[in-house]
Amino acid sequence: MATAYKIIDHEYDVVVVGAGGAGLRATFGMAEKGLKTACITKVFPTRSHTVAAQGGISAALGNMGEDDWRYHMYDTVKGSDWLGDQDAIEYMCREAIPAIIELEHYGVPFSRTQDGKIYQRAFGGMTTRFGEGQAYRTCAAADRTGHAILHTLYQQSLKHQAEFFIEYFALDLLMDDEGACRGVLAWNLDDGTIHRFRAHQTVLATGGYGRAYFSCTSAHTSTGDGGGMVLRAGLPMQDMEFVQFHPTGIYGAGCLITEGVRGEGGYLTNSTGERFMERYAPSAKDLASRDVVSRSMTIEIREGRGVGPQKDHIHLHLEHLDPKIIHERLPGIAETAKIFAGVDVTKEPIPVLPTVHYNMGGIPTNYRGEVINPTAEDPDRTVPGLMAIGEAACVSVHGANRLGSNSLLDLVVFGRAAAIRAAEIVEKGSAHKTIPQDLTDKALDRLDKTRHAKGDLRVAHLRLEMQKVMQNNCAVFRTGEVLNEGVGKMQEVWAKRPRIQVTDRSMVWNSDLVEALELDNLMVQAVATITSAANRQESRGAHAREDFPDRDDDSWMKHSTVWVDDNGAVTLGDRPVHLYTLTNEVQAFPPKKRVY
Ligand SMILES: Cc1cc2nc3c(=O)[nH]c(=O)nc-3n(C[C@H](O)[C@H](O)[C@H](O)COP(=O)(O)OP(=O)(O)OC[C@H]3O[C@@H](n4cnc5c(N)ncnc54)[C@H](O)[C@@H]3O)c2cc1C
Repeated sequence: MATAYKIIDHEYDVVVVGAGGAGLRATFGMAEKGLKTACITKVFPTRSHTVAAQGGISAALGNMGEDDWRYHMYDTVKGSDWLGDQDAIEYMCREAIPAIIELEHYGVPFSRTQDGKIYQRAFGGMTTRFGEGQAYRTCAAADRTGHAILHTLYQQSLKHQAEFFIEYFALDLLMDDEGACRGVLAWNLDDGTIHRFRAHQTVLATGGYGRAYFSCTSAHTSTGDGGGMVLRAGLPMQDMEFVQFHPTGIYGAGCLITEGVRGEGGYLTNSTGERFMERYAPSAKDLASRDVVSRSMTIEIREGRGVGPQKDHIHLHLEHLDPKIIHERLPGIAETAKIFAGVDVTKEPIPVLPTVHYNMGGIPTNYRGEVINPTAEDPDRTVPGLMAIGEAACVSVHGANRLGSNSLLDLVVFGRAAAIRAAEIVEKGSAHKTIPQDLTDKALDRLDKTRHAKGDLRVAHLRLEMQKVMQNNCAVFRTGEVLNEGVGKMQEVWAKRPRIQVTDRSMVWNSDLVEALELDNLMVQAVATITSAANRQESRGAHAREDFPDRDDDSWMKHSTVWVDDNGAVTLGDRPVHLYTLTNEVQAFPPKKRVY
């Protein structure tokens, strides 16, 4: 019973849910501007998935050769396969340069060139002069860039006196009858108390939902809780069919081997020892964009040229590189390969396989971080009181596919943008409206029902069923037949939700209950993803349909929107892509045919 829970109330100007790169950048930006700011996080801030980012963060600094933010913008638009919003992309690429300098001043220990500038490496899809040359644009702190950034951002948040609620699990948004967000309800995992946060802006920075799949590079905590909360609030998600597979997950374990490895000269081979990427992408080769490399690897394996006894993976070579470079620039990779694949990268290749890595789709927002709930009349209508940033959001700067090193950039640029916007629209210390009790009760009822679930299916069992369907029916290559079969199977998995069983009834460190709530969040997004994928009858970016191999701009150059109700019923819609820029410093890039 909901009334059985005692509630502790809090009032803040802004509440940020999530303490990854996006959440922390927003948190300290808001605190710095004098807003009373709380940050709620289910894991200790520096354990957020951002800590695992290896390769780096892009910005056209031009430290290692010519560069221009317009080239960066062009690459990002092209990488997005013309599904990205060009106003937001312009904003991100232009702001990238001051954002990196700012990070440097905050204390991020970037790797350096001989003359002391920030070192920049090559990354897939990053070019100069609108596709002519290879850009060196990705700033790195060895291969531990996310670690360095996250720690620095946490230090800044503490400096600016943001208040942290660590190991608190956000349950649901508190949305009023007028469609405004009034705050969020959270559960303190450590002592079992329930906390109601009132806020003028609630910022979702909860990361991606990679764990909807069986093999992924993201943390076990990447369960898309923000997306789950948004869908339950009756708001849509956007472009959910676009899931990025990283070409180089370690075979078996799924752990990531950064694209920085290929940026430093690493390459892929098949069972005949051929450098097959030369065939698929004669100019970009191993540094073609991630969807191209992932698909090429999958074709090699399908056509019987995979390596290993089962011929089911590919080799990634570094052994020709100077061990000094590996030691200096890729030390974490050498360690990961040793632990998870048992190989010494200076002597033998790493066995790799495309693995789910990033969700381009998410909570739709504008470039200020404000969440969008589109109508036919106003496709850009914002939701009062609600923001979303980072991988949880779909701004959309990555469109149908994200370029490597553009996500860390997205976190800091839009985390900062959300702080700027909140300072404009929130009046410091202003009074809060009362939150009707039934909003809290609804969220508590869901918690209570899950806590006392007495079915016959373990959470882990149902989660595995969902992950297998997503892995088998919504992967790198897709057809209508396989996707529609997957939609049916996901509905079957969904129908089993009432059968779950939670054995631990306590409120203190009840990981059984946490996993059940996380499964709820994952599953609703799995349904949204596979249904959106079955619906989009074209190939674009990471969404490759064998039955519709071409991009179809006439019918499909539009964002998909998707709503999922409490019964798993899906409503699909769309909204226009922003094919215009913010300023007149650059012209929008008209769609070009895909040439690899
Ligand atoms: C292995 C790996 C390597 C990568 N390398 C790169 C790279 O080199 N360059 C690049 O640009 N991108 C990279 N990416 C992508 C990038 O790191 C992620 O997209 C990004 O870090 C996501 O950051 P975030 O702030 O959105 O969320 P996260 O860092 O995932 O943080 C999510 C936060 O939300 C909190 N949270 C979630 N749910 C709840 C809840 N219910 N209640 C309370 N708190 C909650 C968590 O506690 C956490 O603090 C990589 C990704 C992976 C997985």
